Amino acid sequence: MENLATPVKTAKPLISPTNDKNNSTMKALVYHGAGKKAWEDKPKPTIIEPTDAIVKILKTTICGTDLHIMKGDVPTVTDGRIIGHEGVGIIEELGSAVTNFKKGDHVLISCITSCGKCAFCKKAMYSHCEKGGWILGNLIDGCQAEFVRIPYADTSLYLIPAGADEEALVMLSDILPTGFECGVLNGKVKPGDTIAIVGAGPIGLATLLTAQFYSPAEIIMIDVDDNRLEVAKTFGATHIINSSDGKAVEKIMKLTNNMGVDTAIEAVGVAPTFELCESIVAAGGHIANIGVHGKSVTLHLETLWSHNVTITTRLVDTVTTPMLLKTVQSKKINPNKLITHHFKLDQIMEAYETFGNAGKEKALKVILTS
Ligand SMILES: [Zn+2]
Ligand SMILES: [Zn+2]
Repeated sequence: MENLATPVKTAKPLISPTNDKNNSTMKALVYHGAGKKAWEDKPKPTIIEPTDAIVKILKTTICGTDLHIMKGDVPTVTDGRIIGHEGVGIIEELGSAVTNFKKGDHVLISCITSCGKCAFCKKAMYSHCEKGGWILGNLIDGCQAEFVRIPYADTSLYLIPAGADEEALVMLSDILPTGFECGVLNGKVKPGDTIAIVGAGPIGLATLLTAQFYSPAEIIMIDVDDNRLEVAKTFGATHIINSSDGKAVEKIMKLTNNMGVDTAIEAVGVAPTFELCESIVAAGGHIANIGVHGKSVTLHLETLWSHNVTITTRLVDTVTTPMLLKTVQSKKINPNKLITHHFKLDQIMEAYETFGNAGKEKALKVILTS
């Protein structure tokens, strides 16, 4: 009786074994414990909750975080997990409760999943969503695959306007909102300010691009890689400093008439770079941390206590994604500049090699196209 009452469209389709294989498996980049990964067959994701969407990946990328995962630094990622949390794609299938999208829509995937309803989502702190946050390619299967299941699709995907540069928009899944929210907004960058960005990797450069919305007078970029510093110059840095000689503090103090910088943004995630920020921040200034820190740092309260300094930490909430989408559309910023390498999606193992040797390969962001 139950079978008879089931509408035909939800009944299990009768498909021949060959077709069944094509329809139910896909290729994906799978983590198999520290140092082990494979591009292999996985079951194609299906709708589990009515709020889900299945997205066919058009373009994705590799993040510094994925390299940490591959080293075994992220214990929440377990054997068998599909990695990746950035990309654009096409809606393939929708759960019955999704109302903002239709099949065939082109969408930007946010690295942060938000239910839109919990106490943290109500405060626009999507990164701490009780049911979401950074789960993609971490607690659930991610985007480095032919298809991905996106929970809470209505509040975790963004519609891509027709004619948009979809490659540029891949930079909006994570690095642009991260640089902007954790670095620029938390660092309270203002017109005329002198700011320093420590770290000229993709996140530091994304911070450099978005800091210019606020017209700081001087942007000092600090790194140990001359190539990245030269790139930073073409992105709008007014001064570049290679800190490998240990004289960065001295040089920055000289540049700022011994005042220090209004905002020091940490975009590396190790103790020496955070402590550099403590040494160069001006009285009344801000230290905005972006870096993912695995070890403790020394807080020099013996000097900072009297300096009216604000120190901020934050996980990206991706609350500024709609705004950033508009700035890319209007060509106020060009995130394409961050893309240095292109691969087909099935060349992802090679792409990991290139991205993993970023210094030697002069790699910033790689794009993988399906
Ligand atoms: Zn990322
Ligand atoms: Zn939530």
